[in-house]
Amino acid sequence: MDSPASGDLVAAAPAPRIPVHDLAGKLLGHFPVRRIYCVGRNFADHAREMGATAPASKAERGHPVFFMKPADAIVIEGVVPYPPGTTDLHHEVELVVALGRDAPAGELAADDAASLVFAYGVGLDLTRRDLQSAAKAKGLPWDTGKGFDHSAPVSALLPVADAGDIESLMLSLDVNGARRQQSGLDQLIWNVPEILHELSKLYALRAGDLVFMGTPAGVAALQPGDTFDARLGDIARFQGHIVQAAV
Ligand code: MN
Repeated sequence: MDSPASGDLVAAAPAPRIPVHDLAGKLLGHFPVRRIYCVGRNFADHAREMGATAPASKAERGHPVFFMKPADAIVIEGVVPYPPGTTDLHHEVELVVALGRDAPAGELAADDAASLVFAYGVGLDLTRRDLQSAAKAKGLPWDTGKGFDHSAPVSALLPVADAGDIESLMLSLDVNGARRQQSGLDQLIWNVPEILHELSKLYALRAGDLVFMGTPAGVAALQPGDTFDARLGDIARFQGHIVQAAV
């Protein structure tokens, strides 16, 4: 355990720091994580597989579904312990957006939203689906199903200037070498600037915030021993495996 910083009375863990790489894989520095916002039901095929109705047009989208994970849910190395309290851990592969600037709540114009983006990566919104489904059925919050230790594995980040047009990229997840999820990012119901604009109506966005942008269809269970390979085109990749948690 680290010693407390001068003046601190306990040795609390510092915020996670995600490596930032260039296209050649060279380490440029680190991104300190402040908050993790997540978007639910942002691909029509996944909304339908979860039993929800997908909007037929932009005008019928209503508002995005948002929830959060704790910042220390980030996993940077590829080893993910199987979490307690579940027998149905699901993968959701997602575009991860890293913010490099602040925007006071309610003041982020849609046309300015893209300028907040610092970098992109690919991550997994790991979900204790049994707990989430039980909460949904009772009209209760999703927190225990979504915001738990090690629930947010994230790749190294790529600065936005190197990423190009992300809507042309394919998001995919292989488990044990077989494709489980795949979609083009042009299928997002709410794109990145639209999500940041909507989030800004509710929160002051800050540098260090991450946004998990939602998953396409194909969510399914992971077991201890499974290997996974999440990709965002050829600009971000996260490979890892699930291990039985130590008892
Ligand atoms: Mn998700």
